[in-house]
Amino acid sequence: AATAASGCDVDAEPGDKSWLTGQPYSKRFFEILKARRRLPCWEMRKEVVKMVRENQSSVLIGETGSGKTTQVAQFLLAAGGDLGSGSIAVTQPRRVAAMSVAARVAQEMDVELGQEVGYNIRFEDVTSEKTRIKFMTDGMLLRECQTDPLMSKYSVIILDEAHERTLATDILFGLLKEVLQKRPELRCLVMSATLEAEKFQDYWSGAPLLRVPGRMFPVETFFTLRPEKDYVAAAVEVCCMINQQEPPGDILCFLCGEEEIETACFEIETRAGESGCSTMVLPLYSSLPMNQQRRVFPPAPEGTRKIIIATNIAETSLTIDGVVYVVDPGLFKQMLYNPRTHVESLLVSPISRASAQQRAGRAGRTRPGKCFRLYTPETFEKELPESTYPEIIRSNLSSVVISLKKLGVDDLVHFDFMEPPSPESMMRALEMLHFLGAIDDEGDLTDAGKAMADFPVDPHLSKTIVAACSRGCVSEVLAIIAMLSVPPPFSRPRHAQKAADRAHRNFASGYGDHLSLLTAYSQYSNNGSKADYCHEHFLSERNMKQAENVRRQLAGIVRSRGLEKESTEKNGMITTNVRKSFIEGFFMQCAHIDQGGKNYMTVRDQQMVAIHPSSFLQHKPEWVMYHETVVTDRCYMRNVTAIPAEMLIEVAPQFYHPDTCKLNEQAQKILQRALPRSKR
Ligand code: ADP
Ligand code: MG
Repeated sequence: AATAASGCDVDAEPGDKSWLTGQPYSKRFFEILKARRRLPCWEMRKEVVKMVRENQSSVLIGETGSGKTTQVAQFLLAAGGDLGSGSIAVTQPRRVAAMSVAARVAQEMDVELGQEVGYNIRFEDVTSEKTRIKFMTDGMLLRECQTDPLMSKYSVIILDEAHERTLATDILFGLLKEVLQKRPELRCLVMSATLEAEKFQDYWSGAPLLRVPGRMFPVETFFTLRPEKDYVAAAVEVCCMINQQEPPGDILCFLCGEEEIETACFEIETRAGESGCSTMVLPLYSSLPMNQQRRVFPPAPEGTRKIIIATNIAETSLTIDGVVYVVDPGLFKQMLYNPRTHVESLLVSPISRASAQQRAGRAGRTRPGKCFRLYTPETFEKELPESTYPEIIRSNLSSVVISLKKLGVDDLVHFDFMEPPSPESMMRALEMLHFLGAIDDEGDLTDAGKAMADFPVDPHLSKTIVAACSRGCVSEVLAIIAMLSVPPPFSRPRHAQKAADRAHRNFASGYGDHLSLLTAYSQYSNNGSKADYCHEHFLSERNMKQAENVRRQLAGIVRSRGLEKESTEKNGMITTNVRKSFIEGFFMQCAHIDQGGKNYMTVRDQQMVAIHPSSFLQHKPEWVMYHETVVTDRCYMRNVTAIPAEMLIEVAPQFYHPDTCKLNEQAQKILQRALPRSKR
């Protein structure tokens, strides 16, 4: 029998037992193997293995769907020798992709997910001692480097979807370059569908490149004559039109988020029902449970058309066979950070021309297809950027800086970034961390900063946790943070919105949303029958479970680091202490009511904002703290809590005490007007 080190000859007909586990293969294994052998990557398997064996770093480019993500790690593992001596990490920018692809590869190898093949995403580790191929988000690998800077578990690191240029992938590039010098046997493979290949080869000092030839059928592209005002409605319209008028073939329609996707699915389903077409409408977005995500892959029954409404996860990360029609509104949701205003928000933004091409390409994988673009040729030419900007030059760097510091990279200026972030955003990040007390005047991590770096959350939140540990309310604060980090836990089904609102009002705290979230969480977790409780109180059971999971993981970190102090406060102080802990992390995210008493002005950048209509806060306190801002028709603060001015001055004097305040002049003026005279 073969061993892990000797590998296995993938060309030989497999026996009846797995070379890796010694278990008999199932019937499905052989069926899938047939399909795998038809993938373009299969033909290149020898070249790929040879390239990786002979070069420390190399680049692989191949059309989406050619088998890069699912096949290459398997080839390398089977090749044995040094390549198979440790485990193989395959990074993905997206959680859904990591989970979904891991499940597929486990099937292909005929092993149980979480055993020889597993995945690791934030708050979810489905791996074991046996795991040899591990799909993980790039953020998770980065986090692992904190405790294992040499990535010693791995013999090969595959950075997949490199064209996405996420922050984490960009940083991994820099770290890996250093690790490769220290570990000559380590291999690194960069994979992508579309890549500015030269740029990558330059960065990797002339790394060799392989191209997997694609098989593409022509795709006929249509544009609209006029710009569409309502892209969701237009998308629904076009999907229904194709469904009724075009020959068989599945439809893939891109939209921006869960809510839009669910709305569109509902409409299309209703209208397809009325028209009598046999249709299967399936959503696909990141917060969808895994078993529902997997429903998009199997072919629909004969005579039924599959319509998949997806986020841009389906652009390159996941391939769904059978798609012949693509509907592309030309938009996606992107996290944008403005270093000048410190506002980071998920904004619907135009896709790049490269993305538009990728999306269209999804229609031509199995036979000639059609792509319906819901924008004009002029928009395509003039308003879509050539390619998307790397995240590193448009994001909030404070998490990056804190993790690099923890990784021992002190000299951020000379770190080998493929594209260095602007000095301005680097300065802003350092300033922010200084305000939060995570770094000292020399720029070194403080004890609080080191503790903060252990938590897989944004520095505002990790500071809040560290503060709560010493204020004796960490259990409550973790519950709130868990609720803030999952998709909205309150459900409002279309047919029962009033009843839902009534049920939710039971959770309302006069202080606002943070403490209302706490009430909802505590009542849920203390309830004997959670499913019934969720049903009766219009809570999303899935999201509540996820919150429980997040809370458990964060509590584990608190416990293992021994951070929690003995609670000295009486129970009656909890609401105060919770708010004080949040102020320690979020004092920069406060706003003061403006003179008219209608809107709020943010302290940090004097932006006009309003309380989001979904807030539990029923009155308009003078000062509020907010968790995030969202921009729709106007700029809203979401998850808002009332804070007395005295508390701000007491907890964050460095920011709110006019004598010591480091804010700019304009912000100081707001404080002067707004803070009570006696307290100045
Ligand atoms: P790439 O990474 O090059 O875009 P993948 O390795 O993700 O390609 O996919 C290769 C092929 O494997 C796809 O074209 C599809 O046929 C098949 N495949 C991938 N994931 C699944 C899945 N979850 N279910 C069924 N087939 C899948
Ligand atoms: Mg892939």
